[in-house]
Amino acid sequence: MKIILIGIQGSGKSTQGNLLAESLKLPYLSTGHIFREMAKEKTPEGRYIKETINAGFLIPDHRTYEIVKEYLSRSEYQKGYILDGFPRTVKQAEEFKDEIDYVFYFKVSDKEALWRISGRDDERDDETLQAIRRRIAQFHEVTEPVLDYYRKKRLLVDMDGEETIERIHKDIMRVLR
Ligand code: AMP
Repeated sequence: MKIILIGIQGSGKSTQGNLLAESLKLPYLSTGHIFREMAKEKTPEGRYIKETINAGFLIPDHRTYEIVKEYLSRSEYQKGYILDGFPRTVKQAEEFKDEIDYVFYFKVSDKEALWRISGRDDERDDETLQAIRRRIAQFHEVTEPVLDYYRKKRLLVDMDGEETIERIHKDIMRVLR
């Protein structure tokens, strides 16, 4: 089973991704996590990625696609996966040829997302207010069209991301059954 999770920062997608990975015994892969790890590397690419994610911009489509493709070619992902954070643009979605079973969209208001992120204890370098606002604006501009892309393919499942963690997880499991 191949599942994609889409939502703005603070929508709870990584929480749900980890729960799903546990319930379905599938590996969980987050592009945001991959990029935060790459940003620690003391190389020109590491520095570029650090600046880009800290400012709240997206990594270019082609590089992102190459990285995702490389990860997903590994043996542990052959039976399926939970993919969080990719695709984020229509170009990425079009380039991505894997046969996806479900795309879950966690819908939360911008206000709720900002509220949740500002209440986190584990402060991150890429979570300045300016970067978060830029990411939210970018979501509306370049990621919302990805929702339509998957809706047309009848793969999109809309979830109320403002429900409780347990409720959302149960609802997803019901859809999968
Ligand atoms: P996330 O943890 O999913 O919010 O991702 C953190 C940051 O990583 C994003 O703000 C982007 O800078 C970068 N990123 C993650 N996924 C992608 C993607 N699919 N395309 C481009 N940039 C990405």
